[in-house]
Amino acid sequence: MNTASHNPYALRGTLIDCDAVAGTAVGNETLRVIEDGALIIEGGRVTARGPAADVLTGDRAHLPVHDYSGRWLLPGFIDSHIHYPQTDIIASFGSQLLEWLERYTFPAEASFADPDVARETADFFLQELFRNGTTSANVLGTVHAHSADAIFEAARRQGMRLIAGKVMMDRNCPEAIQDTPESGYRDSRELLERWHGVDRLRYAITPRFAPTSSDEQLRRTAELAREFPDAYLHTHLAENRNEVAWVSELFPWARSYMDVYDQYGLVRERSVFAHCIYLDDADRRRMADTGAAIAFSPTSNTFLGSGLLEYRDARATGIRVGLATDVGGGSSFSMFRTASEAYKVSCLNGTPLSAASLLHLATRGSAEALDIADRVGSLDADKEADIIVVDPAATPLTARRTAPATLEESLFALLMLGDDRHIETTYVGGRIVHERN
Ligand SMILES: [Zn+2]
Repeated sequence: MNTASHNPYALRGTLIDCDAVAGTAVGNETLRVIEDGALIIEGGRVTARGPAADVLTGDRAHLPVHDYSGRWLLPGFIDSHIHYPQTDIIASFGSQLLEWLERYTFPAEASFADPDVARETADFFLQELFRNGTTSANVLGTVHAHSADAIFEAARRQGMRLIAGKVMMDRNCPEAIQDTPESGYRDSRELLERWHGVDRLRYAITPRFAPTSSDEQLRRTAELAREFPDAYLHTHLAENRNEVAWVSELFPWARSYMDVYDQYGLVRERSVFAHCIYLDDADRRRMADTGAAIAFSPTSNTFLGSGLLEYRDARATGIRVGLATDVGGGSSFSMFRTASEAYKVSCLNGTPLSAASLLHLATRGSAEALDIADRVGSLDADKEADIIVVDPAATPLTARRTAPATLEESLFALLMLGDDRHIETTYVGGRIVHERN
């Protein structure tokens, strides 16, 4: 099926999304459900939403309808932190963060010196996102400038809302994948000027993490961030205990790991920090005050044995938090699997997350963390039409588990059991980019 995005049409099915949350306490999230609902899609946007009996009347009664009765229409998932060059090292055995970088990540990223590898991987990566129902992402490239060009070009062809950046790192990694303070600044600036604000694309200034940037590189990074306050800043923070100890050796003047970035002026609005497991109250308070966000990466945090994010504390302090797969440290492209892991982490922390909290985290919460909630993350009229069709009965077990349950119970079960088989169709900007075979 090929639908030109400029011709209006309707989608019909059970509409499920999350309301905006009042306050900062986890547990305030609410589901909005319209059992037999319809959306009108026009020019790549949702222009009407409501019960089918109300929406498909008058002039709209004659619009073509994509009828997904019995299935769920959800806002596309939003992945707030993921590495596309690590697609081919997902599920690699046996290391914690620092050894894992040396053993798997750096060699994989070195192979991106070949622009053809970057282009081929970028296309595969986006298709893998779409088959898992992810329609927006905040993506790291490699140190190579052409790695950012490759993912932006691929996303632009798909009409996708995507944030990305070239990694900056000038020490504590193999020489072949180092830049310098000057080349990192210059290449990032050129990419930013080429891509930031083009169609649905935005640029993220992307130092890998504090240990792989010299003081001089962090200083130049901050200069760029000051020059382009509406660009993103994307990096890692306080993921692993050995990493935190190393940062305190490398930056003895800093009060904490977070304080390293803060002293350079990198903790600000549109700064997105992956992990943030080892923060103290002062760190959290500072991140909340500045409007910085956290990318919660539960499958990565358990897979690499990093630790458990205190998600409720972060939210209670007022920090915006998005959900993230962190592939390849994370072990799945699926936001269902990622939500399932977030639930387990919340149980280990003693306060289980509800279906509404988990769906919010994967959609509107990620949109808020990435400062794109005015455009995506819900099914509201005027939002961009990034929508997924979820088939709760795609497998014998989920068909059996969801048939007799309430919708909220079914949604929770599917968040625990779902994967790419449950994504029937993915719409990006009102255009179908994936249909399950
Ligand atoms: Zn990461």
